Amino acid sequence: MKPAKFDYVSPSTVEAAIEALVASNGEGKLLAGGQSLLPLLNFRMARPSVLIDLNRIEGLSYIEHREDRIAVGALTRHRDLEHSPLIAAKLPIISAAMRHVAHLAIRNRGTIGGSLSHADPAAELPMLAVFYDATISIRGPDGLRKVAAEEFFVDALTNCLEPDEIVVEVGFPVLDHDGWAFEEVARRFGDFALASIAISVRRRGGALEDARVAVMGVADTPLRLREAERELVALPLDDQAPELFSEIVASKISPNDDLHASGEYRMHLLKELSRRALRTALTPKEQAV
Ligand code: FAD
Repeated sequence: MKPAKFDYVSPSTVEAAIEALVASNGEGKLLAGGQSLLPLLNFRMARPSVLIDLNRIEGLSYIEHREDRIAVGALTRHRDLEHSPLIAAKLPIISAAMRHVAHLAIRNRGTIGGSLSHADPAAELPMLAVFYDATISIRGPDGLRKVAAEEFFVDALTNCLEPDEIVVEVGFPVLDHDGWAFEEVARRFGDFALASIAISVRRRGGALEDARVAVMGVADTPLRLREAERELVALPLDDQAPELFSEIVASKISPNDDLHASGEYRMHLLKELSRRALRTALTPKEQAV
């Protein structure tokens, strides 16, 4: 398979990349890691007039602790997130999830900006951006704007970016929680998830004081389940809690059938993953969330 003809530019600043996008009249495509875009080009499912390569732009790849959040530059590779001690300490669910993102070669090239922009409903980073209530910083001809992750993902493979905008940074607030879990089922290790859940909790005495829950692979976008979070906090933490929690999660979603699995099967998986996740999150760990 070969892509259709395209021009190629590799600007060295974000401003120049935006100018190239504007000049392309909506026909240009940004190239980051290329791990999703190049297959689309090869299958001719995308036929951009020009590829605007972001890889020569300096200063877009970093992981930094800034007050109450971790700022991640858009060109940061999956592999850097996977091996960052700062991510492991402050955003441990991201650390745990990165091993499930494709394979080593893909993680060496794939970027957080590309993953969020591609907006696959079964991709880990979009789900974790929603889970952590991340803020996505976007640059365009009119300057900088910031969008909450829940608003960024509009539909399957669809985000809220204008054609001449670029994701430049993702800011993840650090949660003051003491238990967490990430669970996923894929047909083969490294495949996109059929279903997945992330959960974190803060305990006080024998009860929960706060909880965070997000799921993916079971709707057109990743979902934060705010009602389920409130219902989980109200649950007595006895032997019944994992079962009741799985029923709560199931009551908030209605997965559709698709090529990869029936909605019924995805629901079955998510219920089992919810039970496991709550058990794990309630087991004391060394790392805070
Ligand atoms: P690219 O492919 O370069 O770009 C993707 C899209 O985003 C393009 O439309 C591009 O124009 C746009 N874009 C890129 N950067 C920006 C930016 N800064 N601002 C605005 N738009 C931008 N991912 C998972 O999460 N989980 C998996 O299990 C998984 N499995 C995979 C298995 C295979 C075999 C392959 C090939 C990929 C898999 N992926 C998986 C996808 C992988 O993580 C990609 O790297 C990622 O989705 C896209 O990142 P990228 O940097 O390669 O983006």
